[in-house]
Amino acid sequence: MPLVPLLPLFHRFNREYFNGALAIGSQPLLSVRWSDGRLRKTAGFYRRGLRVDGRNGCEIVLSRPLLELLPQTATESTLCHEMIHAWIDLVLQVKESHGPNFHARMAAINAAQNQFQVSVRHQFPVPKTPPRWWAVCPRCGLRSPYQRRVHRAACRQCCDRHYGGSWHASCVFVYEPASTEA
Ligand SMILES: [Zn+2]
Ligand SMILES: [Zn+2]
Repeated sequence: MPLVPLLPLFHRFNREYFNGALAIGSQPLLSVRWSDGRLRKTAGFYRRGLRVDGRNGCEIVLSRPLLELLPQTATESTLCHEMIHAWIDLVLQVKESHGPNFHARMAAINAAQNQFQVSVRHQFPVPKTPPRWWAVCPRCGLRSPYQRRVHRAACRQCCDRHYGGSWHASCVFVYEPASTEA
């Protein structure tokens, strides 16, 4: 599953499940991004922090290597889970991890839709079959595991960085068989 851009999802969830509290207009209260290839221990996390200039530097980071192998509902459920943490911290301003506020909001979100389910722990089935292909970006060298070659799939990172998010032929993955590395 190629990576989806997170910001539109964030804004939609913010409107639908957090009454818009996690953004001022179109400006999110925190940043939301995909991890690099190394975040493998957890599907995502929220962390608070200050930037060098002293402004709020809180962020949600989602694991690219774990979530890109899973259906998009796993990304949605993980993002929502981390948004609940951000909401408790930045909007309610209470110290809590998976306490009563978390559970109440999680239950409300799960009751409001049946696209995905937010859970207290990120538990996703780890795909048992090793990848059959590595999709390699000719621009940045990023390698992503794929079960099958996806015609004209391009590197999201490079399309974002160099072409304002539009698909471009120079970012189209080249596939290498993964059998020797599995
Ligand atoms: Zn959590
Ligand atoms: Zn790239």
